[in-house]
Amino acid sequence: MTFFKEQGVTAVLRDSDKSYGLLNMTTAGNRYEPALVPIAMLTHEDYSLIWRLLQNGAVEVEVSLSNSFSQGSVEAYNIVAEIRGLEKPDEVVIICAHLDSWDLGTGSTDDGTGVVSVLEAARAIKALGLPPKRTIRVVLFTGEEQGQLGSREYVTRHKTELAKISAVLSDDTGTGKLSTLRLNQNFAAHKLVDTVLAPMRDLDLIEPGMERYYGSDYASFNDVGVPGFACVGSQPDYYRTHHSQADTLDKVRDEGIVQAAQVLAGWAYNTAQLPELLPRE
Ligand SMILES: [Zn+2]
Repeated sequence: MTFFKEQGVTAVLRDSDKSYGLLNMTTAGNRYEPALVPIAMLTHEDYSLIWRLLQNGAVEVEVSLSNSFSQGSVEAYNIVAEIRGLEKPDEVVIICAHLDSWDLGTGSTDDGTGVVSVLEAARAIKALGLPPKRTIRVVLFTGEEQGQLGSREYVTRHKTELAKISAVLSDDTGTGKLSTLRLNQNFAAHKLVDTVLAPMRDLDLIEPGMERYYGSDYASFNDVGVPGFACVGSQPDYYRTHHSQADTLDKVRDEGIVQAAQVLAGWAYNTAQLPELLPRE
């Protein structure tokens, strides 16, 4: 952005990279201050038109941006609940999703469906009347979209407990059925997670993925050495709907969020019952 500023750039227009006139919202930086140069998203159709016109010479664009910044910081909250462990209440297994979303739509699949699946998993465990060995904690983080703000703050404030968090599983994958978990290169935990998932074979899960990404609240835990895993889902149009005006309730698929809740409940309970905590990376 400094380079653009020095070059006299007036505004940056980005391709939303979605089809059928859908816009996209994302952060332009991570320091929560106005960018040096205004940035706006265009629909892919408008962006392509400008691109084609540019092949024949300069294109004149008029930009009118009416957004504003709030005066100061705004208070926001993580939502935390737990089912206390019977034998080792101070050892914790966390299932989580993020409650915030972008405001073009209602955030139904990013991440309303994750929130609902996590809550349903906790409800089901409670309803079964089977108290877990370790505590199962549910966290609905805030500020994920602006850079995992809620989960970063969580790991800072819970510094002294980190060694006793067995693992964290985040569901931020849309409304499709889950196909597996991604262990973010925690090879040491692979075998135990296999054991944990084995009783759920009839939910069509495949072996955990080992690759590592940086994309949602689990990463805040990986950063501090706590096993942070991600749900891997199969919503085919997730990257079209999420962050756009099409992320609305009509996209939600019951069978997907029910299956996700089953996986989350089974994973959380079985992980809480293991003889030991999951190994760190
Ligand atoms: Zn999300």
